[in-house]
Amino acid sequence: MSNRTFTIIKPEVVAKGFEGKVLDAFSERGFRVVALKKTQFSLEQASRFYAIHKDRPFFQGLLKYITSSPVVVAILEKENAVQDFRKLIGSTNPAEAEEGTIRKKFGSNIEQNAVHGSDSDENAQIEGSYFFSLFEQY
Ligand code: GDP
Repeated sequence: MSNRTFTIIKPEVVAKGFEGKVLDAFSERGFRVVALKKTQFSLEQASRFYAIHKDRPFFQGLLKYITSSPVVVAILEKENAVQDFRKLIGSTNPAEAEEGTIRKKFGSNIEQNAVHGSDSDENAQIEGSYFFSLFEQY
């Protein structure tokens, strides 16, 4: 069990200026910010980040969406971070997400679903290292 996860506050949330509200929701649930920045995915970064989905029908749409405008990326810390964060964000499809989850509150549809959360300790480590060196983690 690891105590860190990686998140992306996705383009539509940042475009609306709601990243502060979402960060607040993370800290209200006990997640501490280890590293944080605003950035915009290049096509190459997005293809690599979502490589696991490269054969899925929604892959090209996903690349277009995630590269469309800036995002906020962060490493978060809490006991049992990966599992607890997935619970906090809710199902991939906001329409199916439980009340009170971030995707229910801020997500628009199965693609524009507000936030990313790593699905394993290993991926949390890999994804965080794409964006932050060890000197940028506090
Ligand atoms: P997650 O772990 O809950 O983010 O879900 P996945 O790893 O399965 O999918 C990665 C991302 O691809 C999701 O967060 C959505 O933004 C997008 N996505 C997943 N499934 C679909 C789909 O069926 N259609 C579309 N258009 N996008 C999807």
